[in-house]
Amino acid sequence: MMKGHCFCGQTRWEYSGDETWSCYCHCDDCRRTCGAPVTAFIGVPIDRFRWTGKSPKRYQSSFGVLRHFCETCGSPMAFDAEHYPGEIHLYAASLENPADFKPLFHVHYDSKLPWLHLTDDLPKYPHSKT
Ligand SMILES: [Zn+2]
Ligand SMILES: [Zn+2]
Repeated sequence: MMKGHCFCGQTRWEYSGDETWSCYCHCDDCRRTCGAPVTAFIGVPIDRFRWTGKSPKRYQSSFGVLRHFCETCGSPMAFDAEHYPGEIHLYAASLENPADFKPLFHVHYDSKLPWLHLTDDLPKYPHSKT
């Protein structure tokens, strides 16, 4: 079982089994909702995922897209979208041990900030992967 939590520890999640999606996202929506130059996501099927502890608040950041965050401390926790049915995308930084995360590719690389320098050889999609 993989587990994650927010900064204050009240909002928690867990999932079992393999991830369906492990990537960096450089899009402006993620940048602003996370307040960070880049974010990283773990995608998992919703039927192998559950919130534990306090339920998160949700904010519709664009049409069909919900951002989940801790009501108490405001930490971004997850993203789900109508264009990814049956999945939830968790912010990898909320893992109990974020070092366990293994990113496999980048999306929205065209939006990467010029002052962010990355040296990996992972595939870099200019926009979305699909
Ligand atoms: Zn919290
Ligand atoms: Zn994004």
